[in-house]
Amino acid sequence: MKAEILAVGTELLMGQIANTNAQYISSRLPDAGIGVYYHDVVGDNPERLKQSLSLALSRSDVVILTGGLGPTRDDLTKETVAAVVNRKLVLDQDSLDIMEDFFKKRGRKMTHNNIKQAYLPEGCTIVRNSNGTAPGCIMEVNGKTIVMLPGPPSEMRPMFDETVMPYFLARAEYRLESRFLRIFGIGESAVEDMLLDLIDKQSNPTIAPYARDGEVTLRITAKYDKNSPEEDLLLPLENEIRRRLGDAVYSNDNRSLEQIASGLLIESKKTLSIAESCTGGLVSSKFTDMPGISQVFDRAIVTYSNHAKTEELGVKKETLDAFGAVSEQTAREMAEGVRLVSGTDIGISVTGIAGPGGGTEEKPVGLVYTALAHEQGTVVKKLDLWGSRSRIREVTCLHVFDMLRRYLLKIK
Ligand code: ATP
Ligand code: MG
Repeated sequence: MKAEILAVGTELLMGQIANTNAQYISSRLPDAGIGVYYHDVVGDNPERLKQSLSLALSRSDVVILTGGLGPTRDDLTKETVAAVVNRKLVLDQDSLDIMEDFFKKRGRKMTHNNIKQAYLPEGCTIVRNSNGTAPGCIMEVNGKTIVMLPGPPSEMRPMFDETVMPYFLARAEYRLESRFLRIFGIGESAVEDMLLDLIDKQSNPTIAPYARDGEVTLRITAKYDKNSPEEDLLLPLENEIRRRLGDAVYSNDNRSLEQIASGLLIESKKTLSIAESCTGGLVSSKFTDMPGISQVFDRAIVTYSNHAKTEELGVKKETLDAFGAVSEQTAREMAEGVRLVSGTDIGISVTGIAGPGGGTEEKPVGLVYTALAHEQGTVVKKLDLWGSRSRIREVTCLHVFDMLRRYLLKIK
């Protein structure tokens, strides 16, 4: 089945907002065995909407429209679609009651123009909206399915997940299941090289690699016949990939490196303190994004100057003089120092040159050291990163989380 997503809204054409609705819907539909072939955007203009819809209906089996279901005059999606497919709009008393209730609960008076939102195409399946006033709908017209959903993503997404996806899944001839294997520490081309034979002979399941700053994700997708027995087609492939890539594979459920490392830390009950130089608190900020981290996270100290490194962490002046702030020795003393002053089980440090200035022949921009001090000793890692200041800082964070993850796995 071919689907097309038609977003309605002049603000999309003006570049005021990005079409995240189309992105969201596109990412979900393949699970119901529906391929998305076109994305269209049209302004709040009935003539052009008519043309776009007619074109969409001529080439796609499913057309999903978002936006323009609201109460105001420029919201004309329903009226226009109804006219194109020659359906009457009829009052749905339930929708009206729900809407009146919505306003009453919030202590607001419903204005008259809201009533038009309770008019829906005759014979449609209504898609209830628990987060706003405009209901959506699903219509079957001459063998084509037309879906209309409101524009605000906070309303559109739950409506799509709770009603539209189940509608398609119930009719799907097959279903797709995907798993995301996330990898850190092996580059994209090396990953591909290690899996080349699997990639070359893929049919079902399929493998799709994609890379983001510093990370690689493999999406593996299996196609199941609707009536096929319960069998996990993904597991043998996942196991084979894990056998080849080892513990570089850090999650199979799309959880991030931050989530995995913090989860392991909380589970281990080991306490943590951090000393940051070039990341200026970024590592700490990412840790504190994680719910539950207060059980184990003690403190972070940002020591940017040499003076601060000595005063706060006890880094020796001789070390700084002899090896410099960006060195294996300083990283080691920072991690050991922060562990000592805070009395935690683990101390982590970061020191490096994020650029764009400050690099030398000997110590170029992107040279970063991270260290992890624990009861039995200290490990230091040297990183040679590249890119902008912000990329270097972000990728450094990934390395810190990976370092912690590997340590916690080892002592588990
Ligand atoms: P409302 O009842 O809020 O008017 P609506 O269904 O009429 O909802 P629009 O008026 O078209 O929807 O859009 C309302 C808001 O929803 C926009 O200002 C924008 O913030 C968001 N929005 C609309 N379309 C999209 C889209 N395709 N992607 C992301 N956000 C969108
Ligand atoms: Mg609107």
